[in-house]
Amino acid sequence: MRNLRRRLADSGQPLLLVTHLPNIQYLTGFSGSAGVLAVWPEKAWFWSDGRYREQARREVHGARAIIKRGSVYAAVAEAIRPARQVAVEAGHLSLREAKLLLGDVRRARPAEDWIEAQRMQKEPAEVAAIRRAVRLASEVFQRLLRQLRPGMSETEIAGKLEYGMRQAGGEGTAFATIVASGPNSALPHAHPGRRRAGRGEPLLLDYGVRLGGYCSDMTRTVCLGPAPARLRSIYAAVLEAQMAGIAAVREGVEAAAVDAACRRVLRRVRLAQYFSHSTGHGLGLEIHELPRIAAAPTPPRGRAGRGANAGRAGEDVCLKAGEVITIEPGVYIPGWGGVRIEDVVRVTARGAEVLTPSPKQLLEL
Ligand code: ZN
Ligand code: ZN
Repeated sequence: MRNLRRRLADSGQPLLLVTHLPNIQYLTGFSGSAGVLAVWPEKAWFWSDGRYREQARREVHGARAIIKRGSVYAAVAEAIRPARQVAVEAGHLSLREAKLLLGDVRRARPAEDWIEAQRMQKEPAEVAAIRRAVRLASEVFQRLLRQLRPGMSETEIAGKLEYGMRQAGGEGTAFATIVASGPNSALPHAHPGRRRAGRGEPLLLDYGVRLGGYCSDMTRTVCLGPAPARLRSIYAAVLEAQMAGIAAVREGVEAAAVDAACRRVLRRVRLAQYFSHSTGHGLGLEIHELPRIAAAPTPPRGRAGRGANAGRAGEDVCLKAGEVITIEPGVYIPGWGGVRIEDVVRVTARGAEVLTPSPKQLLEL
């Protein structure tokens, strides 16, 4: 909050409206699903409704919490009425909300990624929370390995993962669990369906848990029964690419250079064309945070470009110590299947600290 106030003062804007809930949680601790935060250089006010009276009392720090019986937006609008200009989270505020809050939307001034930029560098307590989440998910993976059998459906396997995370104390999944068998694993973001996992085909598992508010994210690709030669060779290439990406991580290195390190390995074995997404992303309170580990500069911002790796201006941005990111190259061959390996790593001055303890050799179960 202190850093944000400094940035606000430098911007010359009288106040910032924070409407993105993970940013509100980051700044105040409030983890509920409705609320608006206004930050002035000298104070911060938070509004929510009656459902969150007790939760706001318990959680909100560093801001005055106001619980409204009527419309929260009307109360915020009233409080910020004197300001001629209002900085808003342009990537998160809908036009409808802007009208309700500001009346005249011409008062709005875009404040893009102010808080997201701060969130990139994790405080020690945040790293500890991510570490716990990553460890929990890895333990669930170890337990799942003993239960996997050919003929299990993708949804059944997803169910075992999700039950395991809950049973171990997880607050929920960090994102929709991906379990993709055989040709389905050629879809990087496949939804688990009724298909049954067969012997000798790739079985891709990408899932995460939320623990203490923070996300984990891991992908492993395994094989039920002995792996055919093609799976072995593609797996070996993806693993080498992933290790090359991790080896490239260090404070001061461009994010694009980490992406290039992965692609270089796959290009050598003529698989680069099948690596159809970016190499990784930051994670924390949200599953996809900055920085984006990718080659190309971010396309113009808009709804279509958001989600998976909502970007910032270009990937010429250098990694900084304290950032926590994923490294997750993959190869996806239509009609055959795909292989992805994903770990969470912490950027340090000397290199990457891999937080994910799960083994990475090809498991034939
Ligand atoms: Zn993932
Ligand atoms: Zn990921």
